[in-house]
Amino acid sequence: MNRFDYVKPTTVADAIAAASAPGAAYLASGTNLLDLMKGNVVRPARLVDITEIKELTRIETSGSGDLRIGALVRNADLAHDASFARDYPAVAEALLSGASAQLRNAATVGGNLLQRTRCAYFYDTASACNKRNPGAGCDARDGDNHQHAVLGWSEACIATNPSDFCVPLAAFDSVVEIEGAAGRREVALDALHLLPGTTPEHETVLAPGEIIVAIRLPAAARAFARHARYLKVRERNSYAFAIVSAAAGLVIEDGSIRQARLALGGVAAKPWRAHEAESLIAGQKADARVFEQAADAALGAANASGDNAYKIPLARQLIVRALAAAAQGTPSRMPALPASPFSSVPGVLHDA
Ligand code: SF4
Repeated sequence: MNRFDYVKPTTVADAIAAASAPGAAYLASGTNLLDLMKGNVVRPARLVDITEIKELTRIETSGSGDLRIGALVRNADLAHDASFARDYPAVAEALLSGASAQLRNAATVGGNLLQRTRCAYFYDTASACNKRNPGAGCDARDGDNHQHAVLGWSEACIATNPSDFCVPLAAFDSVVEIEGAAGRREVALDALHLLPGTTPEHETVLAPGEIIVAIRLPAAARAFARHARYLKVRERNSYAFAIVSAAAGLVIEDGSIRQARLALGGVAAKPWRAHEAESLIAGQKADARVFEQAADAALGAANASGDNAYKIPLARQLIVRALAAAAQGTPSRMPALPASPFSSVPGVLHDA
């Protein structure tokens, strides 16, 4: 491991000043960063440990009713907050779908937004990877790419974003509060992550030294609380990243869908908001035919980047399943470990 220096500021301003040094990186729980350092994938010259910045640990409701979640709130603490789970159940379900119980206890919501891809070639420094080493090539193109992207990928990079949490955040119009030397700004979660294009090394719109200080969930997203789900398909149900996931939210009045929200995970380098599908659903009856049309719209631009064509019909089926589950109603109690979305265990996934 490379030598690095380590500082532990107690205010956001001091953290930003410390992170202005070349090669600096912010450290929260380190559930991803420390693995990357141990593997020599990243070599920060300075770690700015932000875990003593108390102002980043708060969960608050703003005057307008938005929920503001400090970047250092732990995934498990947020998911198990009863009022949060009641108001934003699909977000809680996504948090509980991520990683293991131990990791959820340690990992922070801000860090979740910035976790790196799980492409195996990115973590293997003997492999060619344009994201790790721009211009080097991409060994995933002719390698094991069965879990890679089917939307928004480029010749330079076919990696996916691994976050579960980001998927419902994108669906429900969340906002990320960012602070840096130039001051504070806000970015829609949907606009935080970048598609790879010719520069896959650029993964977010964050400028060097900028820090995520909070995530805001709009008050308006509570309208979906009665009909909201996050479903995830993975190779190992106990602990694995998504092959495909879907966050769905509906507002249903008098049997008609007034509003719809839909986003996909595991399919692209960013959470994939399906605006066209949402427009198609709005005003319709909640039935399978409408949900199938929505799935087709959401995946209209999908194409395989390797041995992953199977992900497209899988995503289509999962979208239909997520919308149907949302229409059926949010369960009164989320299971501690969300079951397979294709399970039919009574009282677990379909307990409306
Ligand atoms: Fe690197 Fe992206 Fe290719 Fe994976 S898919 S090896 S992250 S360039």
